[in-house]
Amino acid sequence: MPKIGWYSRASVFAAVMVLACAGCSSTKSSTPAAAPAAAADSVQIHGNASDPVNKIVIKAIADLQTFWEGEFPKLYGHDYTPVKGGFYAVTPSSGQFAPCAQAAADISGNAFYCSKADDVAWDVEKLLPDLRKRFGDFVIPVVLAHEWGHAIQARADFQGPTVVKEIQADCFAGAWAAHAAKTEAFKASEDDLDNALAGFLFLRDEPGTEKRDPQAHGSGFDRVNSFRTGFDNGAGSCKGYKVGDPPVVEIPFTNAADVESGGNAPYEDIISGVPNDLEDYWSQVYPKLTGQPWTPLQPARAFNPADPPTCGGQPTSDYVLFYCVPEDYVGFDAVKAMPQIYDQGGDFAVATLIATQYGLAVLAHGGQDATDKLTSLRADCMAGAWAASILLEDRPESAFKMSPGDLDKGITALIVFRGSGDVARQGHGSVRVDAYRDGVMNGAKACVTR
Ligand SMILES: [Zn+2]
Repeated sequence: MPKIGWYSRASVFAAVMVLACAGCSSTKSSTPAAAPAAAADSVQIHGNASDPVNKIVIKAIADLQTFWEGEFPKLYGHDYTPVKGGFYAVTPSSGQFAPCAQAAADISGNAFYCSKADDVAWDVEKLLPDLRKRFGDFVIPVVLAHEWGHAIQARADFQGPTVVKEIQADCFAGAWAAHAAKTEAFKASEDDLDNALAGFLFLRDEPGTEKRDPQAHGSGFDRVNSFRTGFDNGAGSCKGYKVGDPPVVEIPFTNAADVESGGNAPYEDIISGVPNDLEDYWSQVYPKLTGQPWTPLQPARAFNPADPPTCGGQPTSDYVLFYCVPEDYVGFDAVKAMPQIYDQGGDFAVATLIATQYGLAVLAHGGQDATDKLTSLRADCMAGAWAASILLEDRPESAFKMSPGDLDKGITALIVFRGSGDVARQGHGSVRVDAYRDGVMNGAKACVTR
């Protein structure tokens, strides 16, 4: 996807910098695994072992069993019992299902661990192939690693409400991912990790749980935060999870219609309404932040990529979403890119991306003209601050309400929908999510002091 971000003379310079460093920007670790890779041929599954998705699953299972054999005793002081209730690759349309499920529909669009049977099952027909297509190979082992988190909880007799169990499982998945990223078997780059992280947010993993059940998981940034905790600090940092520590944000559906739509507002309402809502937000927050009055932007330009607007007399054809500094407007491809992002990421993915560009505008209005990563992260933080205002419903003029899953959509947008050079200019997904979270938790003021 083409670029997202500032459009000014300076941004052209930044793009050149990125190109010059194209060959040296990889942070992928080349350290080989200390231990030999676990033998995947020792893993038997119920299903077609030669299916490409199942092949990845089998490799992941072998590695997860070995990983936990080493980690579990360190954490809990006794041996790890391998998961042995069976591994079920399920094709739901065939009507087949696995232990703990009541029907094939329980597994459709799903993957789960069930402690009663100590088994793991996954939808090999749709869910995993779809996730793989959208987020890459590494999302599959990360999904499995989350399920293994639940297997660990069963072995450790961990008790707690669903949301705590879910984010602890995310933390365990992060701990495993840090190990796996360094192994020959998976060799995941930071981009692979970002994508996998975004992908596993789509997971629902209890047989019979409604996809939109707000109780099923923590919100996106709770989950990403937990994954990162495990990734950075290892499985030991996950062990002590309890209610309120770490804190979680939960958002209820506001009404039946909201449940029905899955909380997704129509595309047209988003692209026309979000810029207005951002104006409303910044007209109130900017004066408090700076002591200066807010000058509204020029109207946003929802353009057709066949006929993109100019910015300061220059063509903008490389950009799908940008803030035009000299003319003070936000532009976005409303015909191709945004509908695609809406389809893939949902309403709040589009809203969040537009909000990041308003963040850039706010910084420009405040006299900041840098195009560095810090500026970009501050803008992400401001998108989070705006999201918090919707969450808190603190503006009577706002037409928007937050639905469960919206923060997930916002976070997915920050991680996934990016073009060439965007990672170098904006930072990795995990860093952007940290900035966004800072804005959600601490408001716009925290964004300018970061
Ligand atoms: Zn789970």
